[in-house]
Amino acid sequence: MTDIEDDDDPIYDDDDFCDCEEYDADILEGRAHCYRCGRSWWLTDEQMRQEIRWQAEMMECAEESAEGTQND
Ligand SMILES: [Zn+2]
Repeated sequence: MTDIEDDDDPIYDDDDFCDCEEYDADILEGRAHCYRCGRSWWLTDEQMRQEIRWQAEMMECAEESAEGTQND
């Protein structure tokens, strides 16, 4: 869903270019920080929503596995 195909973009030829796919998001501050290249930026509203949903899903998964396996 986050695939951005920008083949014409010359920045992709740069060895130092980092796509910043792996980043730490601070949803309280609304900041993201890439630990590969050290870049930090403000999260967009959509990125914030995604992060919040992500973290909520992770918590749900943790709760489900904590409950153990239940078969109806
Ligand atoms: Zn990066």
